[in-house]
Amino acid sequence: MNERLECITCGTRFPVDQVRYTCECGGLLNFERDTPRVGREVFDRRRATARAPIDQSGVWRFREALIDVDPAVVVTHPEGSTRLYERNGIWFKHEGENPTGSFKDRGMTVAVTQAVRLGATAVACASTGNTSASLAAYAAQAGLRAIVFVPSGKISAGKLAQTLAYGALCLQIRGDFDAAMRLVREACDRSGIYLLNSINPFRIEGQKTIVWELLQDLDWNPPDWIVLPAGNLGNTSAFGKALREALAAGWIDHLPRIAAIQASGANPFFRSFTGGFAIRHRVTAETVASAIRIGDPVSYDKAVAAIRVTNGIVEQVSDEELMSAKREIDRMGIGCEPASATTLAGLKKLRASGVMHRSERIVCVLTGNLMKDPDAVMRNADAAQIVEIDATIEAVERALQS
Ligand SMILES: *Cc1c(COP(=O)(O)O)cnc(C)c1O
Ligand SMILES: [Zn+2]
Repeated sequence: MNERLECITCGTRFPVDQVRYTCECGGLLNFERDTPRVGREVFDRRRATARAPIDQSGVWRFREALIDVDPAVVVTHPEGSTRLYERNGIWFKHEGENPTGSFKDRGMTVAVTQAVRLGATAVACASTGNTSASLAAYAAQAGLRAIVFVPSGKISAGKLAQTLAYGALCLQIRGDFDAAMRLVREACDRSGIYLLNSINPFRIEGQKTIVWELLQDLDWNPPDWIVLPAGNLGNTSAFGKALREALAAGWIDHLPRIAAIQASGANPFFRSFTGGFAIRHRVTAETVASAIRIGDPVSYDKAVAAIRVTNGIVEQVSDEELMSAKREIDRMGIGCEPASATTLAGLKKLRASGVMHRSERIVCVLTGNLMKDPDAVMRNADAAQIVEIDATIEAVERALQS
């Protein structure tokens, strides 16, 4: 069997045309295929000369190392091909430049393509907002019914508006994200609706391309560190898998280290890390960074493997630290949503503690767009920046002088 789903705990294999998210033993499933024999120059050529959407996509550009699917059924916007910015000696890969404003589009294009391939007619997820916006957009393109489970009153207006605009049914759960997650899993098991949370191995496949594309941005010369926010841990898992596969395929000759950053009010992974991963912690999550307000991360086991294989680390930052880092990123003219700013906040903390060094090459992954959470900007805005005046030139002159 070339393509298969494989249990990360007991190794049992399942065919890819079976709807399945976990093994009989309860273990998480990885999508696996034999190591692709494609050289990275194929990806470089596509990037330079792309015309077809499937080649322009920063996901499907790497298709030989993703699912093997007829290009005609691929549901792509296209997504990816985001920019890598260098500011003050630090690189920022801006995944907020994806079609719906977050990296979730990279996972969604693959998972919705898989949904189409399986003949699904309805798809669902639990979400803190970005997954639901992305699912709704890709489901709309594919003509699938979309149902999202969100914690009532806990997602930003921008994300909710996007989800509604793309036409999804929005179930506002009276509970937190973790409750919504448990509920959507049960609902999908009962109804046959296809589940598109990152427990779905095909989401992870698409998200691997964040790492492959940033390696490509750096001419396949790996940085010392890749820093990312950690919530439900799908992305941390995807980064570990991407690096492992890039090394096996010979696209890179050594692994960068992963630094996964959590908000201190939503830090179960950090707690487990500090105890050498002896215990899986669960917490009741609270942080301003709503995209990572998650207390019981679904992809825990895969993320532990990602940290171990890359000699990675997990750090936590306070809401004050991440909001001050966000202000810095915004003022660079780049901008991001609060969760994304944990990267710069974590980098500062890790430099201060001597874990990271000034000479090291570091890529921070900005996961979401500034416009996703305007409330967070308005709450933090400098009062002196907003001046209401009469419609006279004298009033303008007075305002400019003060
Ligand atoms: C989903 C998301 C995260 C967290 O990623 P996980 O895979 O859940 O760990 C971080 N930032 C943003 C903007 C997100 O949308
Ligand atoms: Zn198993």
